[in-house]
Amino acid sequence: MKPPDRWPVHPAPLDGEALSSWLRHIAHSYQFSESELLENDLGHVRLPLPDLDLNPPDVLLETLARRTGVTPDRVARMSLAGWTPWLLDALDPDSSAFETYVHQLSVLLPPGKRPINTVSGWRPWIPEQPLQRACPQCLADPGKQCLLLMWQLPLLLSCPAHGCLLKPCIGFPGIFFEWADGNNPPRPADEQIRAMDRLTWQGLTTGKVRLPRRSVHAGIWFRLLRTLVDELSIPLLYWKSHVSDLRFIWRASGHPVRAGQSTWRPFESCTWPIQAQLLGAAAEAINLLEAGTIIGRGTNADLFLPVPDAEIDDGRTPEAHPERAVVPRPTIGELLEAVVQAARENPADARNLYKFCLVGCRTPESVTQLRADFTALGLHLEEPSHTDDRAPFA
Ligand SMILES: [Zn+2]
Repeated sequence: MKPPDRWPVHPAPLDGEALSSWLRHIAHSYQFSESELLENDLGHVRLPLPDLDLNPPDVLLETLARRTGVTPDRVARMSLAGWTPWLLDALDPDSSAFETYVHQLSVLLPPGKRPINTVSGWRPWIPEQPLQRACPQCLADPGKQCLLLMWQLPLLLSCPAHGCLLKPCIGFPGIFFEWADGNNPPRPADEQIRAMDRLTWQGLTTGKVRLPRRSVHAGIWFRLLRTLVDELSIPLLYWKSHVSDLRFIWRASGHPVRAGQSTWRPFESCTWPIQAQLLGAAAEAINLLEAGTIIGRGTNADLFLPVPDAEIDDGRTPEAHPERAVVPRPTIGELLEAVVQAARENPADARNLYKFCLVGCRTPESVTQLRADFTALGLHLEEPSHTDDRAPFA
């Protein structure tokens, strides 16, 4: 018998939920396992769950969209295949994938100063070792018992909604679930990490990222971030005379230089603790660039420079920005009065002003008049013998 096109019960996916997580929800609402649902109703026998979140068959996505009424576009975004070419160029990369993705932009170092590595089968952000993390505060909400797709990638360190660090975990909420560190309370992320993750989340949810100078497409942001991670992980010798900047960034991040690695490996091949340190250093680098504490020598470093106050337009009225109130330009008279007052209070200023005025004196009489004028203005001058009275008489 042909199954009905639309399932009678089909819990809606939560924002950002991974396809495997959503299928588990649907399956459990029918007392099935996700494998049983895949085999019995969706016609996909022995499809490994990790494949669901990476590159599910198109026909499966079409069937799911038909069974649930969720748009095909949204279903596609629940796996990484739906994030090409934004987050990654392709799921089947060629040998130049690393260079194309990581070397087109430059932030901390000038272009062409990093080693170009050929990494076979390399795909940005997809970890070699599967990674499962979750936000403890999100999962404390009974209405959010799911796992997000982006929690599987070493891309975010914290939860943009709660500001706490994501924690490694195993299992699935509501079935079997454990935190890798036991039930330690959530740890708040440092502000620079939260700021970086807010930008990444903006890119993931809106397709754009608002940087100090201008907004960039999310695809640019993911490549900028991956470029920074690469710059922070290459051997010190490539930093040459700027190596003190590298050391400064790592020291500020609280981690050892290059996350303590003695040999270079692509970020995606590192273990999660190393990846977390590299992301933390990237957050610190962005923070230091925006504060002007370090100088980015790459062609795209200007994206992180702060905007001069006068260029900031947040839509608020001038009265709402008392700190940016325009100070009226002083008149010539006010400036002169300020100069005279400074000369009254400081003999050195009086002497300099006197020398300046001497330039306009063309006769000995005019010098005498100048001294009289100074006295009338209350300006103290040293005796003529101590003052350079050699006016440039014509
Ligand atoms: Zn959260």
